[in-house]
Amino acid sequence: MKAALITGASRGIGAAAARLFAENGYHVIVNYANSEEKAHALCDEIEKNGGKATPVRADVTDRDDVRRMISLCVYHCGGIDVLINNAGVDFYGTFGDTDGEVWDRVIGTDLTGVYNVTHAALPELLESSGRIINVSSVWGVHGASCEVAYSAAKAGVIGLTKALSKELGPNGVTVNCVAPGYIDTDMNSRFGRQAVNNVIDRTPLCRIGTPEEVAKLMLWLCSPDSGFITGQIIGIDGGFM
Ligand code: NAP
Repeated sequence: MKAALITGASRGIGAAAARLFAENGYHVIVNYANSEEKAHALCDEIEKNGGKATPVRADVTDRDDVRRMISLCVYHCGGIDVLINNAGVDFYGTFGDTDGEVWDRVIGTDLTGVYNVTHAALPELLESSGRIINVSSVWGVHGASCEVAYSAAKAGVIGLTKALSKELGPNGVTVNCVAPGYIDTDMNSRFGRQAVNNVIDRTPLCRIGTPEEVAKLMLWLCSPDSGFITGQIIGIDGGFM
């Protein structure tokens, strides 16, 4: 059975990916930082439906936590075939309000967290000729007012993806990145109806996206059909940008 480690899988896009990968025969490691109940409930649901899922708490900013998580993946699954670097936080506010603590939290989670997990998982991914999917954002491609730290972190994830794909390609490991637009998750819960309608007005497909749609793209990027694709940043945003 192949193993997929999905960071930030307790909620939102990560939880949708965990369900879909489990339905498609993967043993999923459901990583979370704080949402213990949700992560355990998700794993129970997956197992009730005949899948295999293991919850593992680890803060991706903490390298000791991350090392423990990778050891648990090896213990429970024998290795790692797919790594989805999905855990993320955002901060909405002006650059002036982005103090050092906010900057460190956003860059630490959204960019350094990707380094921490990928670096620790590297021996397992080399062993399996695995797939790495990083989660960036339209704002990592284009930049967003009042989301400078988030945009910088997500742009960093794009650079990391492109560079690492070149380094790991000869080992048969692919590294790709998805760049979602507005997806209906907790991350956007602070936005009111008017703000969502403004996004919809600016989106050619006239709606926001769902976590399940992003999960399907991730699954496809791990399928044999996408075996010649690496180093790519794939937008999933309804044409927003
Ligand atoms: P979400 O619903 O807020 O979920 C965030 C997930 O990340 C949670 O499972 C959370 O775990 C986890 N997480 C946060 N900090 C963590 C840490 N330090 N260590 C481990 N896990 C941590 O967000 P989402 O919308 O699904 O976002 C998933 C990814 O997609 C993020 O990288 C986000 O930037 C990206 N994205 C989202 C959108 C969007 O419109 N929603 C658009 C573009 C990109 P706990 O609950 O346990 O804290």
